Amino acid sequence: MIDLTFTNRFTETLPADPREDLHRRQVEGACFSRVHPVQAAAPALIAWSDEMFERLGLVSPGDLDDEAREQLARVLAGNDLLDGSDPYAMCYGGHQFGNWAGQLGDGRAIALGEVETPAGDHLTLQLKGAGPTPYSRTADGMAVLRSSVREFLCSEAMFHLGVPTTRALSLVLTGDKVVRDMLYDGNPAPEPGAVVCRVSPAFIRFGSFEIHAARGDIDTLKTLADHTIANHFGHLPNADAPTSETYIAWFAEVAERTAEMIVGWMRVGFVHGVMNTDNMSILGETIDFGPYGWVDDFDPTWTPNTTDAAHRRYRYGNQPQIAYWNLAKLGNAVAALVDDVQPLQAAMDRYVEAYTEKGRAMSLAKLGLSVGRDVEEADELIHELIRVLQLAETDYTIFYRRLADMPAGGQGLSDDELIEPIRDAYYTPDSLSDEAKEAMALWLRRYFDATADDALSDADRKAAMDAVNPKYVLRNYMAQLAIDASEAGDHSVIAELLDVLRNPYAEQPEAERWAEKRPDWARTRVGCSMLSCSS
Ligand code: AMP
Ligand code: MG
Repeated sequence: MIDLTFTNRFTETLPADPREDLHRRQVEGACFSRVHPVQAAAPALIAWSDEMFERLGLVSPGDLDDEAREQLARVLAGNDLLDGSDPYAMCYGGHQFGNWAGQLGDGRAIALGEVETPAGDHLTLQLKGAGPTPYSRTADGMAVLRSSVREFLCSEAMFHLGVPTTRALSLVLTGDKVVRDMLYDGNPAPEPGAVVCRVSPAFIRFGSFEIHAARGDIDTLKTLADHTIANHFGHLPNADAPTSETYIAWFAEVAERTAEMIVGWMRVGFVHGVMNTDNMSILGETIDFGPYGWVDDFDPTWTPNTTDAAHRRYRYGNQPQIAYWNLAKLGNAVAALVDDVQPLQAAMDRYVEAYTEKGRAMSLAKLGLSVGRDVEEADELIHELIRVLQLAETDYTIFYRRLADMPAGGQGLSDDELIEPIRDAYYTPDSLSDEAKEAMALWLRRYFDATADDALSDADRKAAMDAVNPKYVLRNYMAQLAIDASEAGDHSVIAELLDVLRNPYAEQPEAERWAEKRPDWARTRVGCSMLSCSS
């Protein structure tokens, strides 16, 4: 029934930890440890991605009878292993909040193995929350429903927004309770346990390389780098027998892909929340959806992660710089494989250029403006908007959709008249300061002058803008509503949100309520504006 062709290139070509017990330990000279998921008490499939089932060549759970669906739930909880599966946890290290943290590894993620899809792609299936591994340190290897709903929905939402990301196949309730101190304030409580099955061509992280470099284990570092290049960067020169040039080209491509991913985050208003190097995918995919959040009112200093509240290292506006810092750490690790480190520095510089160019193009696209214009003028218009958006609480998502609706040619209107169409992007439209109003009106006038250069019709400008400015994003409070319902036994909100988020750029008249501003109750509610790493 669940017919998957396992290829398992990771476990077949890379050095394994010789031990197969769960004793927490330093695993040296190896890229992974073989480990089996625990038995969940009563697996129940509560959400899934039809697209991912189709991609894997599997029948949608919606078309299965009860018995087949139960069987599937057992597999997706890790209770039953499919023929050919070779489950393992990966060894990696990482820099956490700016400091080298040593070995981390998959503490609560167990890959079932790599499969080949009907289209010939290789995808790894990984269960998050299916039990402890040698990398679990003091923790239990489990995951709770709330964080699993968040990971499931956000990975699919990111994909449909067109931002590179790991995918989610399924969400299963385990039937077990997991104790968590949600706010780290000495109030542990049992919560429903859950498992998400994540899918990606590879879950290899920056930290996967750093750990071997930090230990001076250049052999394992090279073996992993060669595996990664041969299997995931096969288009590079000499991918099957990498030379110093190959490693440099590889690093440069990782930098380029990372720049693209960050541009995507900035475009849609996503804040990852924990950009440690162990949470940076070597494929340039968004990975590890923990205390992430979406900016509601535009504020570059905002981070949802209360664990990071003091320094706000991973705030929205700092993400491009942090990616650069993380790439430098990867570069240090890769340096051991190249003859000359200067080209690695050049690739770092290229990240800055790539981010600047792609970031500018993205900002112009959000405004429906062509990229060919004067760079200085473009940057000034963009920077002024960033300033103006912060003069009053302005919803980032709604602002751009309203701007797209505005006809050009309002130059003769008063400030109040000009601002009218974007009024409902403001959180408190009736108490706008004169400064905020005047600055916005001035900016709008400059903006419409700039649109005149492109001579697009209003309709064409709107179509171009609506294709890059989502109407529907997974606002923090929306995920929380899905969690509240799901914890009370109603999983339909997860499915409803998944459905809406499948077409984030389209008008969906029946889903208007999910395009609204963050409601007031969500301003201070835990899970909506404040999240900890507890999950
Ligand atoms: P994160 O910040 O979620 O990316 O996790 C950092 C490290 O902690 C990784 O090595 C995780 O595998 C590990 N970890 C997080 N939560 C758990 C848990 N409940 N059980 C075991 N390990 C965990
Ligand atoms: Mg992680």
